[in-house]
Amino acid sequence: MSDVNNITQNTGNALHDAKAGKNLQQLKEQNTLSILRLIRERGPVTRQQLKIISGLSFTSCAAITKGLIEIGLVREIGQGSSLGGRKPLLLDLNQEFGFVIGMVISSSGITCGVFDLRMNERSIKKINGDFSGEKIITGICECAFDILDTCALSPEYIVGMAIGVAGIVDTERYSIVVSAQLKFREITNILSEVEDLLPFPVYLENNGNLMALAEKKLYYPEYSSLVYIIVDEGIGGGVIHNDEIMRGTLGYVGEFGHMSIERNGPLCFCGNKGCLEILGSVSTLVQNATFGLVSHRDSYIKKYIENDEVTMHSIIKAFHDGDKLATQLFEEEADVLYHAVIKAITANDPQVIILGGEIIQFGENLLKRIREKIENTIFGFELSERVIAFSSLPTHAEICGAGMYAIESFLENSIYKSILSQDRIDASSSNPV
Ligand SMILES: [Zn+2]
Repeated sequence: MSDVNNITQNTGNALHDAKAGKNLQQLKEQNTLSILRLIRERGPVTRQQLKIISGLSFTSCAAITKGLIEIGLVREIGQGSSLGGRKPLLLDLNQEFGFVIGMVISSSGITCGVFDLRMNERSIKKINGDFSGEKIITGICECAFDILDTCALSPEYIVGMAIGVAGIVDTERYSIVVSAQLKFREITNILSEVEDLLPFPVYLENNGNLMALAEKKLYYPEYSSLVYIIVDEGIGGGVIHNDEIMRGTLGYVGEFGHMSIERNGPLCFCGNKGCLEILGSVSTLVQNATFGLVSHRDSYIKKYIENDEVTMHSIIKAFHDGDKLATQLFEEEADVLYHAVIKAITANDPQVIILGGEIIQFGENLLKRIREKIENTIFGFELSERVIAFSSLPTHAEICGAGMYAIESFLENSIYKSILSQDRIDASSSNPV
């Protein structure tokens, strides 16, 4: 009987120990990642500053940074100022420890860029062509090797590559489920095929999610929730909640383009009526301007037509000249985007709402008009509590987002974890960061 009790008790202890061990390991990983992020975001910093910002003990900070220096991810770069006594050493990220590739697949080709670990751009390149269907696999690999040649970088320096697509991505199965733009409905296991051909980790993600992540990490690190609405040829976006990309059950979070704001509005290709995309995308704006010219023959838009076609640029130029048709189109656009922002507020209640894409060429007037409309609603009371702004990402926003995603994946999944298995490094302060 006592043996049975002992066995039960021992098994219970073993389970408890395994669980405790796992928790300790998780705590070590979490603390190391937090210190690494602090050094990346705020470096150069001293160990004492890391202690104060992180809330970890000085001993833990010193142990973690020692390990990070040993593997080359962090380095000492000189002495900081002293408040008395010995000058402390400054620590900074070794941003050239490795590089990432950000890649975006569109209907017109593949664009990719190489960045260091602080998102400094090495090169951006676009290869035009049709990469739809099965051609996508060889296209991805050729573009990756091509840009590495351009940068004179060996593949061993690449710590990860992220690919962005305009479509629904199943991140569990690494496949693109639906992409109207790329004209395919499902390519399963796309990444397992690509990973067999490339010597570094590869990730797949929706473009809107990538841009939301990059905007948040680069420009709003102090906020934990952000909605990014992109208005280009179509309308899409991404949602960050509690510092993480929100995907939902099947990856449809952030598909703002197919939220309906007119029950009996025009039919969208998705089968729904009155979608934001069919009413407010840049394609729709250009189409409405082209039709509008029939009844507004003296519109300045005509003056700015390029190659016999109305473009976004023609509309913007005419708008700034005070043109009547362009102003009417601006008002319609502001109304659609006001609805988009209200939907973002009611669905996600984020601290930050960002508008990106070609539409921001309208300038601050567009934001001002959207805010005026919100002020007339119940949501206007808390408008000052929320940031509503244009994207600060550079021209290649999606590439930038893909690069950032690859860096984040590297930091979360990779090399620094090996140092944690060394017993002499105690990174497990009980105070979480
Ligand atoms: Zn739709």
